[in-house]
Amino acid sequence: MSTLLEVSGVSVTFDGFRAINNLSFQIGDAELRSVIGPNGAGKTTFMDIITGKTRPDEGRVIWGEKSISLLNMTEAKIAQAGIGRKFQKPTVFEDQSVRDNLLMALKKNRGWFGVLLYRPSKSDLQKVEDLATEIGLYQELSRKSGELSHGQKQWLEIGMLLAQDPRLLLVDEPAAGMTPQEREHTTDLLVQAAKTRAVVVVEHDMEFVRRLNCKVTVLHEGSVLAEGSLDHVTSNQDVIDVYLGR
Ligand code: ADP
Repeated sequence: MSTLLEVSGVSVTFDGFRAINNLSFQIGDAELRSVIGPNGAGKTTFMDIITGKTRPDEGRVIWGEKSISLLNMTEAKIAQAGIGRKFQKPTVFEDQSVRDNLLMALKKNRGWFGVLLYRPSKSDLQKVEDLATEIGLYQELSRKSGELSHGQKQWLEIGMLLAQDPRLLLVDEPAAGMTPQEREHTTDLLVQAAKTRAVVVVEHDMEFVRRLNCKVTVLHEGSVLAEGSLDHVTSNQDVIDVYLGR
């Protein structure tokens, strides 16, 4: 597996407090990874660095086979380069149908000129149907998004990100507030999505992480404390101490 993203020796200080401390992290193409860690471990700041929202004081963030540095790129350019981010709260257009939400996400890919001239082509409509099938919302294509359940809205937003065909998708606590059945579907969805792109899932729910069945990175005090299978990291004494607050 070739490396898609390489973060090395990155640090971030907020008002003298080191939120990220010499953190290094690598992810390969089409890899699924969970990032866990207690509150304040630096998970959000870590994602903010990758997406360009927060600039590190030191270190490198290198992207793709051309080894481009993301550090001088704007958030918009980083998104265009193929990094998508799903925040915890779904942000879909509630008055629009599932189909139109997905179409809008496809349009976004084409830049301003594309949006002005846009008429959904047969292939776009087909792509939207394929996406809806992938996220489990085919039967809901004509429904207003505002009428969807919380879980369905989360899937729709994942579908909208997939419509933009990212090479890396960052997902923040996708299972929060979901029913057990919705969690199960979300697991399948993320595992499926990671077959053709890298997916990083920040998650608190250990049962959910177990179902993802992927390599886990444990963050603590802004650094990587442990990395490996869930069984490997949860049997690490440092990780046990951190989770038990010792
Ligand atoms: P997590 O997502 O793992 O809970 P965060 O990345 O949100 O952790 O935060 C890491 C640490 O950095 C926390 O101690 C938090 O209080 C601090 N922090 C995060 N953002 C800021 C900020 N803008 N200003 C000051 N401190 C911050």
